Amino acid sequence: SQITPAETYVSPAAGSKGTVVVAGAGLAGLSAGKYLVDQGYTPLVLEARDVLGGKVAAWKDEDGDWYETGLHIFFGAYPNTLMLFEELGIQDRLQWKNHSLIFAMPNKPGVFSRFDFPDIPGPFNGIWAILTNNDMLTWPEKIKFGLALIPAITKGQKYVEEMDRMSFSEWLKMQGAPPRIEKEIFIAMSKALAFVDPDQLSATVVLTALNRFLQEGDGSKMAFLDGAPPERLCQPIADYIERAGGKVLLDKPLEQVLLNEDNTVAGFQIRGVKGQQPEIITADRYASAMPVDILKKLLPSEWAAMPFFDNITPLEGTPVINIHLWLDRKVSDVNNLLFSRSKLLSVYADMSVCCNEYKDDQRSHLELIFAPAAEWIGRSDEEIIAATVKELEIIFPEYFGANARDPAQVRKYKVVKTPRSVYMARPGMQAHRPDQKTPISNFYLCGDWTMQRYLGSQEGAILSGKQMAEAIEADRAVRPRKAVSSAGIPASFNVRQIR
Ligand code: FAD
Repeated sequence: SQITPAETYVSPAAGSKGTVVVAGAGLAGLSAGKYLVDQGYTPLVLEARDVLGGKVAAWKDEDGDWYETGLHIFFGAYPNTLMLFEELGIQDRLQWKNHSLIFAMPNKPGVFSRFDFPDIPGPFNGIWAILTNNDMLTWPEKIKFGLALIPAITKGQKYVEEMDRMSFSEWLKMQGAPPRIEKEIFIAMSKALAFVDPDQLSATVVLTALNRFLQEGDGSKMAFLDGAPPERLCQPIADYIERAGGKVLLDKPLEQVLLNEDNTVAGFQIRGVKGQQPEIITADRYASAMPVDILKKLLPSEWAAMPFFDNITPLEGTPVINIHLWLDRKVSDVNNLLFSRSKLLSVYADMSVCCNEYKDDQRSHLELIFAPAAEWIGRSDEEIIAATVKELEIIFPEYFGANARDPAQVRKYKVVKTPRSVYMARPGMQAHRPDQKTPISNFYLCGDWTMQRYLGSQEGAILSGKQMAEAIEADRAVRPRKAVSSAGIPASFNVRQIR
């Protein structure tokens, strides 16, 4: 492979604090690039695929319609994301919806039940929303529910972290919450937050969300991006990085981490794709913004045995499926996210109503999350669509099924499978999430799965990138930079093969 110093792609300005190669241009890698240029570094962000965004990536079909890796929601309780939008000057791209959580009612096909949050401070707006919902819970249940939630509101982050020892189902039982609360509300919420049921999910995940949702008045208010994330969010971050002297390159998959004799990184070996030459890119510092499953595969064997890296072994991605159904008529006018409360589906939205770029006044475009997906990820698209349409008979009985009054036809569909998405947040996993700073002096980590307080989410990814940039800056004074010859890897470097 040819040896390419990062300076071949970027020209560090006078006074640059050094070059940083970041593998992965999902939100974490892009955020890292953004905050690194803000701190005076010169990042080179390398993405394996030909599209930015990772789990928020999207593509156009042959008709020019976008299809996405996932239906994505932004919450009021995403401070770092909202700040990033402001810093990029694109805050008008967030389409905020009325402050309501809307649930389908499986026992009453076609009926929806709402938790409407009035415009008063949290947690009072949340309490009001619970008390005024009369469809889903009885009064005794509401009171018990309210009492059960008190620790989620009043106790701090330490308590939330401690609860990682149990599942959210166990936590509800411990709190004496009526069993129907789990069935009616928290199956839907767990599936929406982490694509699994509450008996599989760490209590920390739901408590983190509840804590933020109930304490911050606008915490559970939701926004949709006004179009496809690669264009509307990722590209502006990449442009920002490049305007400040950094670079973002597609089609640059990291293939091997090459080591010096002292186990620090000597270079990133990049596979040559689409006719490009393979190359070894060298820089002052190196970072992974890749998903945990991929990082585990690429860890050099010299590192894998180190306690820091060995500790991440139990982390792995959760399967999830995102479905797009383009229909021949309008089946919904709800301008918000909906909790399907269906066995197979999680949340969904009519994107022809909720998202400016996908607007269609005549025909619905449903985007639905299919979760838990472990049993379905290996099945054919046709089977998955047939099962989805069957579930829609309960949500939209007027338009689907044998008794439909006004049967809707599926004009076309797309099924996007992500076999390993956000890390599986089972009880006990918090202790396995690593810091952004590693024991290797010139190697750092970011990604939604690394330790930050917002779990596997867009906010978590963006925050992890920011924290990584801060970790690099914090190290600047205390760690001498490894001298890497700009002519390439010195002959004395022991370039080893990875496992
Ligand atoms: P990723 O997005 O996975 O980025 C990693 C990047 O590394 C990718 O671009 C990948 O291609 C690249 N890469 C991999 N291997 C290599 C290699 N060898 N060399 C170079 N690059 C490599 N979050 C919310 O906040 N709200 C939601 O509503 C929401 N809904 C979701 C729905 C679905 C279906 C899914 C899948 C996720 C959803 N999320 C949601 C979660 C959110 O998308 C993720 O938490 C976040 O995007 C993760 O960002 P990341 O940068 O950490 O990882």
